[in-house]
Amino acid sequence: MPTNKWMCTHCGRRTSRSVSSGRPLPGKCSRKEGNRPHSWVKNN
Ligand SMILES: [Zn+2]
Repeated sequence: MPTNKWMCTHCGRRTSRSVSSGRPLPGKCSRKEGNRPHSWVKNN
């Protein structure tokens, strides 16, 4: 199954998901103040 790799530009966290799943869950970015989500970009 094809996957996309994603990286958070803010904290550098990486994850991969199948292409059909779309973007990763926003989650919570530990490098941002408050309860803000990761900034995922494709990193293939
Ligand atoms: Zn992050």
